[in-house]
Amino acid sequence: MKHISILGSTGSIGTQTLEVIKLFPNHFNVVALSTNSNAALIIEQARTFQPELVHVSSHEAFLEVKSALSDMDIDILHGSEDLSALATHKKADIVMSAIVGFAGLQPTMDAIEAGKDIALANKETLVVAGDIVMQLATEKNVNIIPVDSEHSAIFQSMQGENYDRIRRLILTASGGPFRNTKIKQLNSVTLKDALKHPNWNMGNKITIDSATMMNKGLEVIEAYHLFKIPPFKIDVVIHPQSIIHSMVEFKDSSIKAQMGLPDMRVPIQYALTYPDRLKNTFPELNFEAFNQLTFERPDTEKFPALNIAYEAIRRGGNSPCSINAANEVAVGAFIDGKLKFTQIAAIVEKTMETTDFCVNPRLSELIETDREARTIAHELIAKL
Ligand code: NAD
Ligand code: MG
Repeated sequence: MKHISILGSTGSIGTQTLEVIKLFPNHFNVVALSTNSNAALIIEQARTFQPELVHVSSHEAFLEVKSALSDMDIDILHGSEDLSALATHKKADIVMSAIVGFAGLQPTMDAIEAGKDIALANKETLVVAGDIVMQLATEKNVNIIPVDSEHSAIFQSMQGENYDRIRRLILTASGGPFRNTKIKQLNSVTLKDALKHPNWNMGNKITIDSATMMNKGLEVIEAYHLFKIPPFKIDVVIHPQSIIHSMVEFKDSSIKAQMGLPDMRVPIQYALTYPDRLKNTFPELNFEAFNQLTFERPDTEKFPALNIAYEAIRRGGNSPCSINAANEVAVGAFIDGKLKFTQIAAIVEKTMETTDFCVNPRLSELIETDREARTIAHELIAKL
């Protein structure tokens, strides 16, 4: 029996994690659940899974959840220190890190510090502080098992291999909703257009990141940290069907790919059962229905965010932290109707150029960079 805490249980990854857990009641037990502000859903989840702890970040939602669950023997927590209590709860063997954005970093680090294995969906954790996080995981002898489908694909392809054998990693990208949109038309696309992802149903932030291709840029940085591969050995290829989830090319020219229908429950389940596999009844891939797997080069003129992320990782230091913060602000402004789609990448690039550079930042300096970059991005947006 594995005991699991879920950071961000009400999101797209969080709810799918609970779907997987529900399939295997003899293998998994839920210790703790958390949400930002979705009181109704976490109340329902708590009644179904009966965890020991529930954490609610929003004060209003916290009061609602506390009162609704007063008949149950569950500790209802609130505040950032209590989020750390959830991430480090002594009963948990593994923590699913599925909060979105920078907010996921601290609780994930707390969980690693406490020796918990991590199923890592929150890619921003590695983008912001990959060196520190991976170092801490090594010191604490903690497994970081990727949930992001591309990284799960690479992680699975790497079983029985070692890093020295790798020639390059090939991350696949669907190309998002604007793959066939003319560059001139990108200026006038709406939020509704950007939220129509062709293959995956995900939270709003990552869906917008997929449309700008910043998501793939963040994933290049994530892969660099997870697999210790320099960025020039990480290629991105557009694969609109999202059947091949990513590939590893080895020194001897052999390529391993991991394939399947685009269904996040598969990499979520693998992260929870690793290194084992459990039989499930998810839909099977019908090869006749996907009789054409196609590949294209990413259009970096149309999607400059990808190159901005490569540039950030080449610069190193706090640059990835700066682009992550600026991107969170710019995506938020786009969602609020205060920024055009094509301005997102421009804000991110300008913020990276303006943020004070720091070669070898400590965690406190990254927290400061995050604050500075957010301020810069907000100012740039206000000036437009
Ligand atoms: P989501 O927006 O659907 O859910 C986010 C979860 O985090 C929710 O439970 C929300 O309540 C909680 N949350 C948000 N802000 C918070 C805050 N400030 N403090 C505490 N909790 C907060 O997001 P998602 O699509 O599930 O993505 C989660 C993470 O997984 C992201 O980092 C994303 O990049 C990554 N990821 C998601 C997918 C996917 O298919 N959705 C795929 C790969 C990677
Ligand atoms: Mg991904």
